[in-house]
Amino acid sequence: MNSSSEPSEAPAIKTGVEDTFYYEITTQCALCGSCESECPAGAITEAEESFLVDKRACIDCGTCAMVCPAGAARSIPFVRASLDPAAVRSEDAFYFNAGCAQSLYKPKAAAQLFSLLKEHYPQLHLHERCCHHDPQLPAGSVIINCCAGCDRRFRSLYAGINTLSLWELLDATPQLNLPDFRGRQVSVHDSCGYRHKPQVHRAIRSLLRKMNLEIVEAEYSGTDSVCCGDKLYGLLEDEQVEQRIAERARQFPCAEVVVTCIGCVRALSSAGKKPCYLPELLLGKMTEPLSESLFDYHSKLERYIAEH
Ligand code: SF4
Repeated sequence: MNSSSEPSEAPAIKTGVEDTFYYEITTQCALCGSCESECPAGAITEAEESFLVDKRACIDCGTCAMVCPAGAARSIPFVRASLDPAAVRSEDAFYFNAGCAQSLYKPKAAAQLFSLLKEHYPQLHLHERCCHHDPQLPAGSVIINCCAGCDRRFRSLYAGINTLSLWELLDATPQLNLPDFRGRQVSVHDSCGYRHKPQVHRAIRSLLRKMNLEIVEAEYSGTDSVCCGDKLYGLLEDEQVEQRIAERARQFPCAEVVVTCIGCVRALSSAGKKPCYLPELLLGKMTEPLSESLFDYHSKLERYIAEH
């Protein structure tokens, strides 16, 4: 068991291996076993004097952190560095990737976002190959991603590919013409894939403030954020996944919750929240709820990924 004060070593990025993260149980553990029974991946087992997380099985969902009464479960604490937006924007091999889910469910927003970016970065190209497939781009290429999952796969699975979040690039873009939401209150849900990039959380909040949105933070935000529940699809019965989604939704003080992932749009819609998809907010639009079932959403996405 690790001490809660000991820094964990940041796992190195290995080409061809998805850059995954995991939770650990610290010495604050009171040995109640709640985490073991609630872990959807079966990644926690009881050891002689502690509970241990199998880092290869952990899906980084944060359920253990939510259920632990002693606050002993935590995401391993390290920061994955970002490229400097100022250094990449003059690159020739500089690509925008909208991501499969956005291309499938919000193609208009994806096209408008690309047009907006082209106004500021004329050298930017569109990249339409899904992150599950080799991008076939020259070494040194930089892919700008909305989706945290795409960012993680492109940066770790393929040799020579660098990534940057769209949010860091936009926040560093001068003279960006943004809508004014006149002090509207929103909460923010931070995607799992950017958990180890607090710089992305800061960029998202900076963009929201530039749009005159007032942020009311939820329990479990930023680097302590937990999964919206969508990642548990396939591990638990659909009904249990929806219950977990509803539990996460109740943690947001505001009815309107800013998200950067379409899976989170679907999840929060199903739990009765009003998701505000950040690409649409930036374009001055409010997001329509996504009423797909868990099964339909994942089936359509899998088909789209296979074809792109
Ligand atoms: Fe299990 Fe999720 Fe905790 Fe990992 S983060 S140990 S999968 S509950």
